[in-house]
Amino acid sequence: MTGLEQLLGRAEELYRDLRFTAVSEWKKRNGGLAIGFMPVYVPRELLHAMGVLPVGVMGAGDDLEIIRGDAYYQSYICHLPRSTIELGLNGALDSLDGMLFPATCDVIRNLSGMWKMQFPEKYSHYLDVPQDFDANVGGQFYRRELEEIAEELHRRGARKLEPAALRKSIAAYNENRALVEGLYSLRIEEPWRVPTHELYLLLRAGNVLPVEEHTVMLRDYRAAVLADEDRRSMDQARVLLAGSFCEQPPLGLLRTLERAGCYIVDDDFVQVHRWITGDVRADGADPLADLVLAYLKQGIASPIRYIDEQVKGQALVERVERSGAEGVIFCAPSFCDPALLDQPMAVAAIERAGIPWTSFKYAENTGQFQVIREQAGTFADSIKLWSE
Ligand code: SF4
Repeated sequence: MTGLEQLLGRAEELYRDLRFTAVSEWKKRNGGLAIGFMPVYVPRELLHAMGVLPVGVMGAGDDLEIIRGDAYYQSYICHLPRSTIELGLNGALDSLDGMLFPATCDVIRNLSGMWKMQFPEKYSHYLDVPQDFDANVGGQFYRRELEEIAEELHRRGARKLEPAALRKSIAAYNENRALVEGLYSLRIEEPWRVPTHELYLLLRAGNVLPVEEHTVMLRDYRAAVLADEDRRSMDQARVLLAGSFCEQPPLGLLRTLERAGCYIVDDDFVQVHRWITGDVRADGADPLADLVLAYLKQGIASPIRYIDEQVKGQALVERVERSGAEGVIFCAPSFCDPALLDQPMAVAAIERAGIPWTSFKYAENTGQFQVIREQAGTFADSIKLWSE
């Protein structure tokens, strides 16, 4: 087995491990708290600076039968909260000392309430992020949120939040983000070198590994694929996948799209890694203020972030241009309000720009891909045949 195969094997093992063994092992080694977080974004730097392991919880994919989770939610909403509740109830998340629920949608808000009732002994916090991006309004509000989290974690045994430690953590995540961004850029240049199903596994590994270990994994992967002579270009259509920012698609779906003739050259997966664009200032006198400012001023355009209606969809058009995508596939979870309410505006923007598109929906446990394969294959063929 090559080093690259071993690395990818390890990443897939982490992805499939619904008992979060890596987290339990980290706790045994380090003795700190581990705090889960739902998609899309939490300031992992703050947790890291307090000696806490941030753990991304993104449902259970297609590997878990839902037995009790369905009873907690209406049948018509997305799948992610049911599988998350199921994980909580079946003990898979016992290694977590608490959960953060970032303000993504009403479903997550409800889930945070259920968590409080089901697991009253654990820390549970609804992270109410600002939709006003003025430092004196939304910034002050967000800072208070972060201070409250830090105070509560400290009460529960985490280290006190100190500026020097926070600066170091910001630097560690800056390095990690730059490596993720570097792989996204490499995929734009040579998509055959960085297949999306591999990149996705690396992003998912970052949900459970400490940032230092994940950074090594990203660096090793980059070196290995650059040295791999067997990766050759194929005649595939370059597409941007939009809408998969919260409930994640099953791995099989990504492999299906690639086999159907698509090079995915940009996407919304595991967005915590890319939510902040560029570096957060790591040498300021008040690093918490720098973290807040980065949230306000360096966040990506997303359906869960307020954007003036006039410019909705514009960021997507720019991403298409930047990535050299020849078309957009809107690929959102079934019944995901934020993604699907935004889609008509995004479609209008890309149609104005003359960009071809198609759309379908999935659930994290979708197991049949034949229809999607035919649709994506036809879309890829039409791009190849009729685009300029
Ligand atoms: S998939 Fe969409 S609707 Fe479901 S929890 Fe996530 S953002 Fe909310």
